[in-house]
Amino acid sequence: MILDKFNLKGKSGIVTGGGSGIGKGMASGLVQAGAELIISGRNFEKLESAADELRQYGGPVIPVRADMANMGDIKNLVDRTVKEFGKIDFLFNNAGIIRRNPCEDFLEEDWDDVIAVNLKGPFFLAQAVARVMISQQLKGKIINTSSLIAVQGGKRVPAYAASKGGINQVTKSMANDWAQHNILVNAIGPGWVKTDVTAPLIEDKQRNAEITGRIPLGRWADPQDLAGVAVFLASDASDYITGQTIFVDGGWLSI
Ligand code: NAP
Repeated sequence: MILDKFNLKGKSGIVTGGGSGIGKGMASGLVQAGAELIISGRNFEKLESAADELRQYGGPVIPVRADMANMGDIKNLVDRTVKEFGKIDFLFNNAGIIRRNPCEDFLEEDWDDVIAVNLKGPFFLAQAVARVMISQQLKGKIINTSSLIAVQGGKRVPAYAASKGGINQVTKSMANDWAQHNILVNAIGPGWVKTDVTAPLIEDKQRNAEITGRIPLGRWADPQDLAGVAVFLASDASDYITGQTIFVDGGWLSI
């Protein structure tokens, strides 16, 4: 039956940046659908408190400290997941940062940080996870967090735009190379979501009004608005979708 295909019971995987915002919203959907999760990030206390909250829906939910800019941490994250669950069915490559500065003032250090966390780290984490999936000879799902700024330029965010445009392209490269192994790779492109990353924009009354006024659904997303698509893309219900970016943007890109 169709609803059974959305069930994640017996499936296990990783949500990077699962301690807050969109990652936590997606994780709550995955746990409610029956999945076992590792949630990762740099701030272990934040992860522990998110894991406590998520366990009310099921679990296990295990917090693991891992910096996406550190290749050793990425390897440990994958090893730990295999150790805990014996296999990896899905990866949500969601952790990300943003640095705001006009193009004429943008700093090399900010460029390198954003590209490391949003593009290089996710690629090599996906590679390490795909190697496990290939060796276990099971179907796998890899889901990257993209953005509207993958297809629009944004304002004062050149490195972020490059990283998210890049992640959309890498999503397609990985989808092509790994289809033969039944590893399906897609991206979720959130619109304007109320999280720590967007707090400065939400507090800026004028910018907030500009943004809200341009969203056809007339409101910012809550992280929970991303839970449904996360469950869908991790589940058997999406077994013929690969190489896509699904935008969850309240209609923003349609105007
Ligand atoms: P958030 O709450 O700040 O989440 C970002 C997460 O990434 C945090 O949990 C953070 O945990 C983790 N993180 C940051 N740097 C890291 C690093 N070096 N290594 C490991 N983890 C790291 O903001 P969010 O809005 O939910 O962002 C999640 C994703 O959605 C990002 O990829 C962002 O670009 C994307 N996105 C957001 C929006 C939006 O409107 N909010 C729109 C489109 C796309 P620690 O601090 O513990 O490391």
